[in-house]
Amino acid sequence: MQMVDVVVIGAGPAGTVAASYLKKQGYNVTILEKETFPRFQIGESLLPNCMTHLEESGLLDAVATRNFQKKTGAAFIKGEKRCEFFFSEQYTKGWTWTWQVKRADFDQTLAEATQAKGVDINFECEVTRVTCGPEQQELEYKDKEGNEHVITCKFIIDSSGYGRVLPRLFDLSKPSAFSPRGAIFSHLEDKDRSEKASNNIFVHSFDDNKSWIWAIPFSDGSTSVGIVGDKEKIMDMAENGGEKYKEFIRKFDDLNGRFENSELKFEPRHILGYSIGVKKMYGEGFVLSGNSTEFLDPIFSSGVTFATASGLLSAKMVDKHLKGEAVDWKTEYEDVIQKGIDVFRSYVSGWYNGDFQTIVFARDIHEDIKNQICSVLAGYVWDHSNPFVRKHDTILSTLAKVIRMKEQATL
Ligand code: FAD
Repeated sequence: MQMVDVVVIGAGPAGTVAASYLKKQGYNVTILEKETFPRFQIGESLLPNCMTHLEESGLLDAVATRNFQKKTGAAFIKGEKRCEFFFSEQYTKGWTWTWQVKRADFDQTLAEATQAKGVDINFECEVTRVTCGPEQQELEYKDKEGNEHVITCKFIIDSSGYGRVLPRLFDLSKPSAFSPRGAIFSHLEDKDRSEKASNNIFVHSFDDNKSWIWAIPFSDGSTSVGIVGDKEKIMDMAENGGEKYKEFIRKFDDLNGRFENSELKFEPRHILGYSIGVKKMYGEGFVLSGNSTEFLDPIFSSGVTFATASGLLSAKMVDKHLKGEAVDWKTEYEDVIQKGIDVFRSYVSGWYNGDFQTIVFARDIHEDIKNQICSVLAGYVWDHSNPFVRKHDTILSTLAKVIRMKEQATL
């Protein structure tokens, strides 16, 4: 039977960041990954704060060699209204740019860099059973031939993303309070990009705040285009090979014909009901990171940054634990990650209930306010000196109310 210090389930951003950090501290780490890489994954627009995590885990240099599309901001558009954020103007001191990436390339780059540090990644190995105890953890996994294996370790980090291995096996998932939404997307040719849009992410709101479109340009001249909306709407758009999706993005007014004659790089894919919560992020011998914890919504592109943030922090806690130091998993891990998630929860709610859009599309938005919101959009949701982080649960609704009153008064 194979024995290592730490087994990480999943080789996505959360898993590779966690494994690379622990390897740097001298542990014997193995990743078990169900798929073979490169594999498609959604989640292509990063936030500047994830650069901090990639740097600390020693993965940034590898990603920097790949010529990914530089992202310096984000634009929100609704009909005639438009608001563009630039991370160089943000309130929090931190990274002012990041990348937009095809996840197949990005995740493979992370995986190869992690292997180069000495981490074993066993691809096409699906974890099927886990037994946890005070001293030793046991994982059963199936390889591509269907052979079963057992590996033991001192600690498990579950970074299995949408696979949610431990939440499923240990009954840790809980439903999300958000209504069930879905997304349909493809990559499209985007030849005359420079005339119609910048290279940053564009978010187009429509359908009375209920639906939106993302356009995420890549460095090879293609662009990821997705539509998010109610589950029923997305199911309808996905029928007959995504016929209505194709028609919509070709004709949608606010896209100004940008994709009218573009070829799709692959048939549209769709994903439904992705928002999910978790009852607990840790237990005896294990911790959850990335999408194995809670996933809110794609609107602010926060998923990968939460994956790298929680991958890094979980690895630091495992390091402490394995050194024999006491770890308060609730306060030192779960509460920290939860705080960040809760900040984004307020902004996601504010997007769909219209408060966030009232603020950013206001006739005049104060520069300081914009810069503070910009730091949230850059992923700096643990900077409590920022009032838009500290008072996240009330500040959007209060400010939106004042703006609506002011705008009505001047009509
Ligand atoms: P993953 O990247 O999912 O990696 C988990 C790995 O675990 C996978 O490789 C999987 O094969 C493996 N695995 C699963 N089960 C098992 C098993 N049983 N055994 C072994 N291995 C297993 N985020 C952004 O940052 N920006 C965006 O623009 C963005 N857009 C999104 C759009 C949509 C429509 C959705 C739904 C999400 C979006 N996200 C975005 C979120 C993003 O997809 C995730 O947050 C991110 O991929 C999570 O990373 P991870 O490392 O936790 O998991």
